[in-house]
Formats: sequence, structure tokens, C-alpha cells
Amino acid sequence: MKILKAKTVIVGDGDTVIKDGAVVIEKGLITRVGQQQEIETDSCDNIVDYGDSTILPGLIDMHVHIAYWQTKSDKDLYLNQPGLVSLLAANELQQALALGVTTIRNVGEPQGQAYALKMGYKKGFITGPRYITSASGISCTGGHGTQIPDMIMEVNGPYQFRAAVREQIKKGADWIKVLASHRTHMCEITQQELNAAADEAHRWLRKCCIHAGTTTAIDAAIEAGFDTIEHGTFMTVEQAQRAKEKGIAWIPTIIPYWNGYQMMKKMIDSGEIPVAHQAIIDENYAYFAECAARYQQYFKEIASTGIKIAVGTDIVWETLPITPVADEMKLMVDFGMGILQTIKCGTSAAAEVLGLGDTVGLLREGYLADILVVDNDAATNITALKNVREVYRDGEVVYSGVTS
Ligand SMILES: [Zn+2]
Repeated sequence: MKILKAKTVIVGDGDTVIKDGAVVIEKGLITRVGQQQEIETDSCDNIVDYGDSTILPGLIDMHVHIAYWQTKSDKDLYLNQPGLVSLLAANELQQALALGVTTIRNVGEPQGQAYALKMGYKKGFITGPRYITSASGISCTGGHGTQIPDMIMEVNGPYQFRAAVREQIKKGADWIKVLASHRTHMCEITQQELNAAADEAHRWLRKCCIHAGTTTAIDAAIEAGFDTIEHGTFMTVEQAQRAKEKGIAWIPTIIPYWNGYQMMKKMIDSGEIPVAHQAIIDENYAYFAECAARYQQYFKEIASTGIKIAVGTDIVWETLPITPVADEMKLMVDFGMGILQTIKCGTSAAAEVLGLGDTVGLLREGYLADILVVDNDAATNITALKNVREVYRDGEVVYSGVTS
């Protein structure tokens, strides 16, 4: 038995904060959560007092691209080197733990990695957050993402979409990922194809997610009954209400758009755009500026419809860490969501979307002891999540950070 104590304990239900709290861990499970004075500590010789820190559930990142080598500055090293890609993945999984992330959903990974990583976990070759994967994404010929080597299965017609779903499941997919839009208000995939993909995923008892940034694709995604809408940048309030009625969750992924916009704006404002970046700015700046403004203006209003929201980060650039969940959550707070509600989106709400709502995402008796300890009071200041002090998975310390 081990007892963790801290000045603040956030349960993860969007509401409950226990002051001078304690969490009891036994055999990888949480067996008690309460105030320190209520919990019998005499018989325990393994008590860790984290002082002014906060204890909360380990974070969940719903939109990750582990092993996405295609945008690395040294990307040529990885071409046709699946072994090296697996080692990159193992390294990034460690980085995710250090950021307080104890569960991830990888929504698009290079061919063949699902098997390697799942088997690597099973055999104890690698450690990292709980690993849920869609294997490779599925799109139509020339559709979003197909310009990236080694990432997307290109298929056409309802039958091929069904076959692609089955193939990803065969390769180890727990979820199915379909990509349907790319920066225009056109849905690249037909309604019949999307219906077939969602239906086939559900027939095989898998949930499915869809890259749908713009309104037409969002409409089609809702109609087809995908379980999560990724990005949903231009989702309207009316669409959010319809998605909510169908139980569809929204993974906003604000940070790639916000951060990308800020980075490009800084370069433009400085008047010194490196030659290598000019083409990137020409291609992306206008869209990213529009997206950033959209999130800033409408996030709060869309969230207030009550649509289920879970945190995802979608980072494929080296300028940000692999799973900057704390930064994404800060943006959610900046754009109008309450701190405890935001923490719920990154813990129990995400767990529920994953179908793990009765095992992780809450500090509650009987739940797996996936626990994050951060410096200072995260219940009143979301930036505290950046100062990771200790991370537990299944009751074992998997990361120890530097205390401030
Ligand atoms: Zn993505």
C-alpha cells in the first residue's frame, strides 16, 4: 500500500476538489480517495507527501501522431526504415509520460507500426502511456493526407472503404480513422463511403474518428455517425447540437492551429522570413489565421451546447513536444472554459469517449492508479499542469520530474 498526499486533489469529474487530500494505491489500483484526516495512515510505511502540489488523474491525449517522421528535419533517415521508426515511437512514448500523459489515442501512424508497438508493450520491450491506435488513416485517392508517404490508405467506393476498415483492424487498429476534408468547404469523401466506413467499424465493434475541419465534412460526419469529430474547426452551434444528440464527441485540437498561426505571424511581423519558410507561409498562413480566430471566437459558445469535448493535440512539428496537453488545456481555459471542466475534458470525459470510463480518468476507488502530480494548485491555475512532478501508471512511478 502507498499513500500520496497533497494540498490539492482534483478528482477529474469536472467538479470535485479535495483540500489536504490523499490517494491510497494498492496493487496498481486506487483504493481510497479522501481528506488526509479521514484516511488511516498508521499502518502504512509508504507515504509520499507532495506538499503544496496537486494530485489529479493522468492526462489523456485523444489526437496524437506517434512516429510521424515525415515532418522531421532529418526525415530522410526514416524512409524505408521501419525499425528506426519504431525506435522513434518508443522515444516519443517516453516523452508523453514526462508530460503527464498516461493514455493516448494514436490517430494515424506509419504502416506496420501498430503491430510493432502493441507487441512491444505486450512483451515489455517499451513503456509509455496506455496505447490505443487507429493504425493508418483511410482516405480517397488524392484525399487529405495522401501526399504524406507511408501514412494513409487510399481507397474509393463504399466496398473499398469497408475493406480498408477490415485491413486496419487486421493490422491492430482499436479505432478507425478517416480523413474527409482539407482546408476547403468541400467534403472529399462521399456520404456513401463515409456511411460504409462508420458502419463497418461499428460492425467490428470499433469506434471511428474523422478528420473533418470544415462545415460540409462535419455535416457528413454527423450523418454517418462517426464517434469523434477531429478538429471541427468550423463547426457551427447547430452542428454541435446535432452532434451532441447523436452522442458524437468533439476533439477541437486548438494548439496546432493557434501555435502555427502565432509562429508564422511572428516571422511575418519581423519582416525576416527565412527562405525555407516562405512556401509554408504562402500555403498555410491565411487558413491558420482563420482557424485561430474561429477557435478564439466560437470555442466557448460551441462548448456551451454541452457537446462532449475531449482533449487532443495533433502535433507533428518539432517546435512543440509530442503531446502538449497542458498547453491545449490552457488555450481551452483562455477561450472561456472553466479549469475543472477543462481538466475533465483531458481526463474522465476523454476516458468515456474511449470506452474506458470505468477504469481510467478519475481518482476514484477501483480505478487504475494512473496519476499525475504537478507543482502548485492546478485547480486555480491551469498552467500548473506544465510543472510535472511525478507520473504513475498502474500505481508505479513512470516519470519523476524536477520540482520547482
Ligand atoms: Zn492529426
